[in-house]
Amino acid sequence: MKLTIIGSGYVGLTTGACFAEVGHHVVCVDNDERKIKSLLEGKIPIYEPGLETIVRKNVVSKRLQFTTNTEEGVDHGEVIFIAVPTPPQADGSVDLSFIEKVAREIAVCLGSYRVIVDKSTVPVKTGERVAQTIRRYAKPGVEFDVVSNPEFLREGSAVEDLMSPDRIVIGGNSDRALAVMQKVYEPFVAPVLVTDINSAELIKHAANSFLALKISYVNALSELCEVSGADVEKVAEGIGMDKRIGRSFLNAGLGYGGSCFPKDIAAFIAIADQLGTPFDLLKEVQKINARQLNRFLDSVREALWVLKDKKIAVWGLSFKPNTDDVRSSVAINLVETLVKEGAEVTAYDPKAMDKFRELPIASKVTLTDNPIEAARDAEALIVATEWPEFATVDLQELRDAMRTPLIFDGRNLLDPTAAASYGFQYRGIGRGTLAAE
Ligand code: NAD
Repeated sequence: MKLTIIGSGYVGLTTGACFAEVGHHVVCVDNDERKIKSLLEGKIPIYEPGLETIVRKNVVSKRLQFTTNTEEGVDHGEVIFIAVPTPPQADGSVDLSFIEKVAREIAVCLGSYRVIVDKSTVPVKTGERVAQTIRRYAKPGVEFDVVSNPEFLREGSAVEDLMSPDRIVIGGNSDRALAVMQKVYEPFVAPVLVTDINSAELIKHAANSFLALKISYVNALSELCEVSGADVEKVAEGIGMDKRIGRSFLNAGLGYGGSCFPKDIAAFIAIADQLGTPFDLLKEVQKINARQLNRFLDSVREALWVLKDKKIAVWGLSFKPNTDDVRSSVAINLVETLVKEGAEVTAYDPKAMDKFRELPIASKVTLTDNPIEAARDAEALIVATEWPEFATVDLQELRDAMRTPLIFDGRNLLDPTAAASYGFQYRGIGRGTLAAE
């Protein structure tokens, strides 16, 4: 099929490449000229495992093309996916101006029947607004349908998630459009849930909010474990063995971050408020999340007394492992607070340092080529992102590099007993402090 994606960021580019990989002919549109130029030169603007290979392969086979021209995209695709940003506003509600703008841009180019699919994460009832906008700006009589097809990919495993998703949700109110969408997804082996548009939109916010709730639940437990002497890792294992609960998303840590969870929960709260059905449970989820980083920073302050002029190493800057994305990363909040309090921060991340360099805080942080160099002469080491390579660092080498052997493991990544056996004082989340042997 001929497909078009408008917005070629993390979601749009990866989705476009995966559609091409299963045989569709895809045009990816973006209004960022630099991004399209670099894609046309064969440079992939983001790091996502496996993405570069499939982009290159499908560009060569001409099944994947890039342009800045929306009209070209609308002409090409029988289905047009919208994958533009839906950032938060100061009050938590979603800034829908990117969606509205794209709806207008598509509308004026429409010549014959198209299915317009919203893949961006939007508040319930946005589809109705998109349809209204297109009707308003399109030539009279032009046929089109609007569909909601929320995206559930996770950065770091986006290609895998798109190629074999847990489910595909298609929300539509027209049989004609639903039949087209079934054809788009025919090459994928995954259960398809067909719903109305409002339900599909709500599913995305409800799913992300539930995952955030699970994280905050275990983080609240971690505090209880710390004061009672229990080990949150064992508690999570024990409750996660119950099939009704499951072990995933029960990892205690510095809290959730990234470009989706914080904004999607805020958006869900805002839309529930707007509709007159406040979702107070989710407000508590946000509070627990903010408290988790503050509690962690308090433990660092408690151990180091004064942070000013102390050299502190931070491992990990991306919001999670296997991605270079630093948007709303908790690691960045942490680094900013340490710098504000006068600490001398040295940091290392396997993939996110280029994206970090684009942030204002970067000029106040020293970046190194490897984790040991970051820790050299440091008075404390903070593990902020659970990159697997940090778990296999030679602890003797680390001990020799550091000035004082203090580890604050914000992701419970390292083995506390092993760390203690090398002379470290180790502090994790919800598992107490283990002193050096
Ligand atoms: P992104 O910022 O990486 O990409 C969006 C792209 O849209 C940018 O390249 C931007 O230049 C382009 N754009 C903006 N306006 C445009 C226009 N008028 N015409 C053409 N291009 C335009 O964002 P993202 O992370 O891909 O997220 C996109 C949407 O998908 C958001 O609603 C997000 O919540 C949702 N989502 C994201 C993820 C994720 O993990 N990143 C997962 C699921 C859903």
